[in-house]
Amino acid sequence: MTAALLSGKPLAKLLHLQATAQAKALAEGGLRPALAVVVATEDGSTHWYVRSIERAAENAGISCRIVDLGHDASEQVLIDVLKDLSREPSVNGIILQTPLPSGVRADELVRHITPEKDIDGANPLSLGLLAVGQRAFAPATARAVIEMLEHFEIPTAGRNVVVVGRSTVVGKPLSLLLLQKDATTTVCHSRSGPLERYTKSADIVIVAAGRRGLLTGTDVSPQSVVIDVGTNVLPDGSLTGDVDEVSVGSVAAALTPVPGGVGSVTTSLLLLHTTDAAREQSHMLVSLPAK
Ligand code: NAP
Repeated sequence: MTAALLSGKPLAKLLHLQATAQAKALAEGGLRPALAVVVATEDGSTHWYVRSIERAAENAGISCRIVDLGHDASEQVLIDVLKDLSREPSVNGIILQTPLPSGVRADELVRHITPEKDIDGANPLSLGLLAVGQRAFAPATARAVIEMLEHFEIPTAGRNVVVVGRSTVVGKPLSLLLLQKDATTTVCHSRSGPLERYTKSADIVIVAAGRRGLLTGTDVSPQSVVIDVGTNVLPDGSLTGDVDEVSVGSVAAALTPVPGGVGSVTTSLLLLHTTDAAREQSHMLVSLPAK
């Protein structure tokens, strides 16, 4: 491997420290920031992930409430819970964890997370605000990619950036954030044809497709910085990305690992978004007219 390996861990630690400092400052003013994670699945890896968020939150001084509604929760129950959490003053941030019970429409649910508490940018209103360049929480994974680029001082202005994947969770919001950073952004998807056509001449290639080994050494060039967002679980339970590390690592300039890359930054950003939300909500309360 000749590519530089861009670990996300030091940045994750830095962001965690920032969230901890903000939580401490808020606590000194009498407000303990709080996160609620809504879960409705029996999937073991989801529960493992949610517990890791809970541990990270508590280490940062953020209280974390896991609202486990069970794998057979109805759409209406989920909507009612999200509406209640959106109204509840003691909750500052809300995450709706996937997968959801079969038949439950995620699009329908996320509308009920109020944008001020939508710390993982799930409500289409948050995406709309991002699209017009207004303040909103971006999905944490999309922002994690931007934070990684900034942390490693990889310029984006005027650079050719290819995003592989156009989901509402990663590819689309990421392309909007890259545009805000003056990148010339191309978004590829399953109908784009051979990726090489777009990726070979790109300065930065970001892959978020959920397809193991999708990007290989023949798709990149020696100047390419490759960010691997993909997470694929192998039969032995280990994790791998969308990039063929061996062939891409022997051609590209730099590459993020999986695990230990973008994913490690995502959790810290969820915490930082929670403390940001708590701070903004406390200002909103202070500025309300006295009754
Ligand atoms: P998704 O909703 O399944 O979207 C996948 C996207 O990839 C789609 O736009 C799809 O195109 C495109 N795609 C699929 N096969 C392709 C191919 N052969 N060539 C080009 N494009 C292709 O997935 P997602 O939620 O965005 O997640 C993407 C990956 O990121 C997954 O591995 C997921 O686990 C991972 N992820 C990681 C984190 C983290 O924190 N690290 C967080 C979220 C997601 P079409 O639109 O044409 O179908």
